[in-house]
Amino acid sequence: MLPWYDANARDLPWRARPGANATEPYRVWLSEVMLQQTQVATVKPYFEKFTSRWPSFEALAAEEDAEVMSAWAGLGYYARARNMLACARAVAAGGMPDTEEGLLRLPGVGGYTAAAVAAIAFGRRAVVVDGNVERVVSRLFAVREALPGAKGRIRDLTDSITPDTRAGDFAQAMMDLGATVCTARGPRCLLCPLRADCAGFATGEPETFPVKTKKPERPQRYGTMFWAERDGQVLLVRRPDKGLLGGMRALPTGPWRESPPGLEDAPVAGDWRLLGDTVSHGFTHFRLDCALAVATIGAQEIAHGEWWPVAEIESAGLPTVFAKAARAIRRDT
Ligand code: SF4
Repeated sequence: MLPWYDANARDLPWRARPGANATEPYRVWLSEVMLQQTQVATVKPYFEKFTSRWPSFEALAAEEDAEVMSAWAGLGYYARARNMLACARAVAAGGMPDTEEGLLRLPGVGGYTAAAVAAIAFGRRAVVVDGNVERVVSRLFAVREALPGAKGRIRDLTDSITPDTRAGDFAQAMMDLGATVCTARGPRCLLCPLRADCAGFATGEPETFPVKTKKPERPQRYGTMFWAERDGQVLLVRRPDKGLLGGMRALPTGPWRESPPGLEDAPVAGDWRLLGDTVSHGFTHFRLDCALAVATIGAQEIAHGEWWPVAEIESAGLPTVFAKAARAIRRDT
């Protein structure tokens, strides 16, 4: 794998060249936090934005929570952003550990991130298993046990092939192989450096690995989002810190329910009307359909929230589902 990596490594903004010791743990850590459950292409512009605005743990740690949450908007899985800030503050105060065990003690750093940072930033031998590695290893050894039950076995198998030196490059080589050659739908075995040793290739059906337990259907939820406008400004609220999209700026909306709620959760009295359009979004554990309600609001007091210029709504840092709603409403009204 290492000669293959030396010749084929992807050029990514958070990476050192193959064989070089990465010297910036901050960049490695930040990229690994952002890449969890998120595609490389999506992460790149966020990584550039974050590292130019906050080039170190100290700079990020000193920033206001709300500013960081706004900059994160659109990357999803917002608990990551809160954990990331807690971690940056712990590192700014107490330094960055350089072992897997030490990294694991940082807030919000789980087994995967600790192993990846220890290997990639500090050259430690650590067993790094992300989704790409999981797929490559399950094919290489033709693991017939289904995921997620097979995770322990796949980790042990990855351990068995992880070298004592250049473990970080090895991990990144496996990730790159999974991303570019041993891809989910169409493994390109003829280009693969592991072909001669690959039990999955030998079966003639490598794409059937990894075997997965069928996931249950995600439940459907419903809600209404409210667009209250006054003098060219729209009412935005901050979502409660705990819970989905916690701490993010958002359009007012009531609890998301099992049947469409109508207008009963309107944040302020007004002449509310429902638009024909709805907005759909897939979260990890459920799908959401939201009706969109609009009203022009008089001068009455508002209990919660802030008025935000409609013309600058793109800079409010709304999470994707609310940004979609804002675009649909502006198109329709
Ligand atoms: Fe994946 Fe094919 Fe390579 Fe096996 S030979 S690791 S299935 S690309």
